[in-house]
Amino acid sequence: MLYVPRGLLEETRAHLLREAPKEGVGLWAGRREVERVIPLPNVHPSPLTAYLADPLALLKALKALEREGLSLLAIYHSHPKGPALPSPRDIKEARWRVPYVIFGTDGVRAFLLPEGQEVALVVL
Ligand SMILES: [Zn+2]
Repeated sequence: MLYVPRGLLEETRAHLLREAPKEGVGLWAGRREVERVIPLPNVHPSPLTAYLADPLALLKALKALEREGLSLLAIYHSHPKGPALPSPRDIKEARWRVPYVIFGTDGVRAFLLPEGQEVALVVL
């Protein structure tokens, strides 16, 4: 289960809308529930259909979380023109053990990848 306050879900949506029509990417961090939304630059050469979090920004963000005693809870990204389902590329390139949260045209869902097991998203 992934617990996210409504306000932070909206903050994430706002970030992804600013990135559209490109895919947007970022981190959710916190202790038990999401406490922090951390947008990251998408530096993928084909950002309309794929994402790659800027490696240096990602490293900086992870270090800052560690300093503050927060854990990485999820990685989010958007499918501006597609469903909230992992794409073949999402599955192939998955390497984190936290849920992948996908914002699609039909809503938002979370999955463990590459297994594809859905994680319940609980909005607080
Ligand atoms: Zn994707």
